[in-house]
Amino acid sequence: MNLVVTEIFHSLQGEGPLLGIPSVFIRFGGCIEPLCPWCDTPYAWHDFSEMGLDEILQKVAQYGCREVVVTGGEPFLQWETGLKDLHGRLLDGGYRLVYETSGKAGVPDPPGAVVVLSPKHIGGTWHVSQTNLQRADWFKFVADDEASMEEICRFVEANTLPAEKVFIMPMGSTRADQMQRMEAVFAFCRAHGYRMTPRLHVLIFDDRQGV
Ligand code: SF4
Repeated sequence: MNLVVTEIFHSLQGEGPLLGIPSVFIRFGGCIEPLCPWCDTPYAWHDFSEMGLDEILQKVAQYGCREVVVTGGEPFLQWETGLKDLHGRLLDGGYRLVYETSGKAGVPDPPGAVVVLSPKHIGGTWHVSQTNLQRADWFKFVADDEASMEEICRFVEANTLPAEKVFIMPMGSTRADQMQRMEAVFAFCRAHGYRMTPRLHVLIFDDRQGV
């Protein structure tokens, strides 16, 4: 059974509720339309190769790290075609799993794992279902300008998401972009009881890939 993988690497989690934790990242290839105009990993849309489960497990094991972040692209596109099996084998191997998903595809409620869902607002529409929202442990939103923050606030309230489970991250795939939005996002989070997260790897490495 083969999965479509863009990259596997060892780093620190750079954003969200598990910020700073040393982790192995498995980035699955392929995403789902509509694609996000601000995407910071567009190479995952088309730059990938097939890997077998054993090959993936071997590569993950070489880092000697028990935290695994499954990300993309959109990883859950491959749940029924191999990811479910990989999930079971990673848990059996004693790894702790975190899934990062856009919620644009079905979210399967993976047993024994944490799901961080980042709803996408594209072309005036939120691309996530109620079912997928209910399967998430944490929510992560990308904030651009004042209008986008108001839209996030409306979405959080309309879907009664608990404020303490909501993380807001300034949009920006370069250090300069991030810094430019930091102050406004800080004030937004303080006003609404949300948590703020930077993109640590962008602040440190700017737009370098694979870190
Ligand atoms: S869902 Fe994620 S990988 Fe896909 S286009 Fe949006 S930001 Fe990029």
